[in-house]
Amino acid sequence: MGSLVVRSERVVLPDGTRPATIHISDGRITHVGPHANSASGEAVLDARMAVVMPGLVDTHVHVNEPGRTDWEGFEHATRAAAAGGVTTLVDMPLNSVPATTTTRALDAKRHSAEGKCHVDVAFWGGIVPGNREDLAPLAKAGVLGFKCFLSPSGVDEFEHVTEGDLRQALPVLAVLRLPLLVHAEVPALLLQPVGDPCSYETWLRSRPSTAEVAAIELLGRLAREYGAHLHVVHLATKDALPVIRQLRRDGVQLTVETCPHYLTFAAEEIQHGATALKCAPPIRTASNREALWQGLRAGDIDLIASDHSPAPAALKSIKAGDFIAAWGGIASLQLGLSAIWTQASARGLSLDDVVRWMSAAPAQLAGLRSKGRIAAGADADLVFFDPDESWIVDPAALHHRHPVTPYAGKRLRGSVQRTIVRGETVFNDGRVASAFHGRMIASRA
Ligand code: ZN
Repeated sequence: MGSLVVRSERVVLPDGTRPATIHISDGRITHVGPHANSASGEAVLDARMAVVMPGLVDTHVHVNEPGRTDWEGFEHATRAAAAGGVTTLVDMPLNSVPATTTTRALDAKRHSAEGKCHVDVAFWGGIVPGNREDLAPLAKAGVLGFKCFLSPSGVDEFEHVTEGDLRQALPVLAVLRLPLLVHAEVPALLLQPVGDPCSYETWLRSRPSTAEVAAIELLGRLAREYGAHLHVVHLATKDALPVIRQLRRDGVQLTVETCPHYLTFAAEEIQHGATALKCAPPIRTASNREALWQGLRAGDIDLIASDHSPAPAALKSIKAGDFIAAWGGIASLQLGLSAIWTQASARGLSLDDVVRWMSAAPAQLAGLRSKGRIAAGADADLVFFDPDESWIVDPAALHHRHPVTPYAGKRLRGSVQRTIVRGETVFNDGRVASAFHGRMIASRA
């Protein structure tokens, strides 16, 4: 691999967007210079009017391989990532079989991913009742942190934890200095769904905001007691924002994520039987959505991750439209950037904001210092993005294993033209490169 210069009138740098050249050697950015300046003899890739931004780091992806590869797998997921401008994804420990709760399971996952990745892939480990002794070995083997559930996860092989289990695990995490990622809903406040199973209201009423708020209060207390870093995944309710602010004032090391679907859709607009939109916690009201955007603006919410969690159409109950029976999970890996830019630009926000939420902050959460920014020493992970192109989502053009997505037919703004992973083009002009340039990341660095 030689050297390359990427040039654009609009490069999203850590301190703002301006014309620049990005000098790349052996997959790394050596320096960022003025726009006109490139040494003779270097190959120049001119992005012209496209914005050049750091590749997205998606810290919440359920790849499901091995074990549920018919739901999603490394080859399809990383193809979709490449097409969507995601240059690093961090795989969640559940929905694959085995779940990533032991080093043996991590080995199995790495083995199944070998030679199938179009973008870089890293792994979260899992905390389940009784696996405290596995946490340090998993960290040594390279997981970037640990995920657990306070309420049933949806799959039997990944059991949810109690406060007692967390009291076992948290001292270990505090010593390892790795984040605890939590699905924050307390089971005691979840309700049995009652009513028409095809009505979205039936699902929504069964997962009240209070379950999220109570979970974050409990987790915040524990994180403070043990001095651990708490990361709340997929925050869906605005009602937790005051609690989040208070926990930070109390000195809790806390980061918070939300997802494109909570920032795009609203409960009032969900059609009868539209089960592609089922997820947990559920998508709430339009006014709640606006408050989540306000939370991002204010810095109460740190980042946006996809929570890409697909399943075959039959399991999503696409024909029957039964919200109770349907798998809870939304497929959006390929669409997250355009979906967020559509909403962000309509609210007067900038691509600098989007890069902070979708590249820089997630890289920081995962401890990936060479990812998520365009700067000397970082990996040359880049996206060429046309922020003005408007297009309609055609599920047939998605690289996810199953073309089931609530974004089908939706008009989005902004399209990924080219994706570069460590200096190699993995997606260009609508096509994913046939070579597998992705690597498995084995440690925080
Ligand atoms: Zn998830």
